[in-house]
Amino acid sequence: MKYLNFHAHQPEISPDMAAVVCFEPDAPFPAIPPEQFAACGIHPWSLNRLSAGDLEKCLADLAVYAGSGRLCAIGETGLDRLKGPELELQTRIFLRHVGLAEKHSLPLIIHCVRCYPELLQMKKQSTGAVPWLIHGFNSNIRQLEQLLSHGCFISFGPPAMRGKNVKESLLKAVPLERLCLETDDSPDDIKSVYRTAAGILKIDESALLEIMNHNFQSIFRKANDR
Ligand SMILES: [Zn+2]
Repeated sequence: MKYLNFHAHQPEISPDMAAVVCFEPDAPFPAIPPEQFAACGIHPWSLNRLSAGDLEKCLADLAVYAGSGRLCAIGETGLDRLKGPELELQTRIFLRHVGLAEKHSLPLIIHCVRCYPELLQMKKQSTGAVPWLIHGFNSNIRQLEQLLSHGCFISFGPPAMRGKNVKESLLKAVPLERLCLETDDSPDDIKSVYRTAAGILKIDESALLEIMNHNFQSIFRKANDR
């Protein structure tokens, strides 16, 4: 069993770890070692830099990737009230990602900052056919409960592990079968994230490894079929 990293921007370097490496459609397809995984999406921050024409090109390239069989997920994509452009544009582009994910039966890796009500609204209107993984969760217990009640998976990375009690209580509030772990763009390796999470949850690292492998399989089923 490997230490699986549910959301990263670089592959893992050691053979006992594997990552879902997210890239954007206007970047080259990442060099990923065998048994690691690629996901593609347009980050909401990138909507600030892309012209309308470049954005359409990105969406077209993303659609090609989505149908290519080379991706394990669509993302990261999402909504960001602090650093993204106007929400109308973010919503429109996010819904294009949802459409592609549902068309190709791929899970979504989602970045969400202060837009949980809007995100939940879209979740309710979606077919519910593909898993939604909320990465880098960093909000409050009320939002967490709502996401959980709508079937989302919740992923935590190093910022959630850095000692603040309120964040530890969020980690503990996620049922183990909905929990994911990630490094995102942090320099920490995924093993250290597992170690810290196991400490907070007071479970054996080997038990956590087993749970994460199970969750990975239920989210990224297609990646495992390959
Ligand atoms: Zn990220």
